[in-house]
Amino acid sequence: MTAPLRSPAPHVVIVGGGGTGAALALDLVLRGLRVTLVERGEITSGTTGRHHGLLHSGARYAVNDAESAVECIQENQLLRRVAPGSFEENDGLFVGIDDEDMAYGEKLFAACGETGIPARWLTPAEALNLEPNLNPDLKGAIQVPDATFDAMRLPLRWFATAKARGAVIQPFCEVTEMVVRDACVMGVRGHDHRTERDFEVGADLVVNAGGPWAEKIAAMAGADVPIQPSPGVLLALRGRLCNMVINRMHKSGDGDIVVPQRGLSIVGTSSWVVKDPDDLGVPEDHVQKMYTEGSKIIPAVRSAPFRQAWSAARPLIGGGGADTGRELSRTFKCFDHMERDGVGGFVTISGGKATTARAMAETTADVVCRKLGIEAPCLTRETVLLPHTAYYAA
Ligand SMILES: Cc1cc2nc3c(=O)[nH]c(=O)nc-3n(C[C@H](O)[C@H](O)[C@H](O)COP(=O)(O)OP(=O)(O)OC[C@H]3O[C@@H](n4cnc5c(N)ncnc54)[C@H](O)[C@@H]3O)c2cc1C
Repeated sequence: MTAPLRSPAPHVVIVGGGGTGAALALDLVLRGLRVTLVERGEITSGTTGRHHGLLHSGARYAVNDAESAVECIQENQLLRRVAPGSFEENDGLFVGIDDEDMAYGEKLFAACGETGIPARWLTPAEALNLEPNLNPDLKGAIQVPDATFDAMRLPLRWFATAKARGAVIQPFCEVTEMVVRDACVMGVRGHDHRTERDFEVGADLVVNAGGPWAEKIAAMAGADVPIQPSPGVLLALRGRLCNMVINRMHKSGDGDIVVPQRGLSIVGTSSWVVKDPDDLGVPEDHVQKMYTEGSKIIPAVRSAPFRQAWSAARPLIGGGGADTGRELSRTFKCFDHMERDGVGGFVTISGGKATTARAMAETTADVVCRKLGIEAPCLTRETVLLPHTAYYAA
């Protein structure tokens, strides 16, 4: 049985200030709950602030991971409505440069049809007309509705809107302990790095939105989540080598995507697995792979001036036996730790993409409301977000 909101409204603490935590803070305050979000560093300083900035059409997953592909195209279309101005609506191309690619292209085109992703074949001349820096020997291309966005500014719009509706956002507040009584999480304890003081915040329910750190955070409550941190290396080159998102027309692999970001071109990415998301490094052979593979789709990648290389860890759902992380789905899951570990008042959201953060938040807020016995609809599908500048102005 669910009931209308009681007064005072239940208080939810969210641990983790990436895109997922940001979208969740907004979803919950719009449903009338009180929210405090604690983030150990600056907001978006985890994986969120370090990705390509690709608003996935879902085409990269359409052949092997249809569930993620459908999630991506749905959010791709919805986010353009609620976050106008955040996206460069530049589309993407999947470029075939050999017969194997072209055979994969047939499967890709069919899979796009099955997952609802608008796609159209282009001749080499049509593709080169759109993107003159492509490999001139390309054999064909498929155009899809990819887009690009600023990895930090989109989540800032969720934070800004959540804050304007009453959410309390606490950056530089690291959770070190869960307050657990009778197998129920009652709040969090931690350290505020701004004041160098310890803090304790009580909660009716705590949500772990810790991305690749989710396993560590869950362990503080004696709970477990099957998270596999899977890093990738990104290479930023000076100069805009393309205006569209350029993907190689094959099963996702290393160095097979070039994403234009402002005056830069971001070449991505690789994939391996680690135990500790704070211990990634930037392997030099991965950086070299970005040059080698990236230059197969855009030859100018080889000679463009280096700007930066970095890595970040995907929070993938997996049982720990993954090889490179590429075999794991990009879908997301919300874990109710009462059902999973017998720990009350505690939920984890993980997996997914930056593109699907809002959908992850909706699923999690549904679970939170069910657990708190509240009936309140999701409003993030139609609430137009404040501009990112409102976060610091508020
Ligand atoms: C190389 C790479 C490229 C990618 N490219 C894209 C892309 O182009 N498009 C796309 O849609 N997706 C992309 N992704 C996926 C996307 O970046 C992630 O799925 C998404 O950013 C995860 O967001 P999150 O909020 O769940 O996690 P995070 O952003 O990692 O947020 C978790 C937060 O929890 C905080 N935290 C951890 N421990 C504590 C603690 N004890 N107390 C308080 N806070 C804590 C962390 O500091 C962190 O800020 C990419 C991922 C990688 C690795």
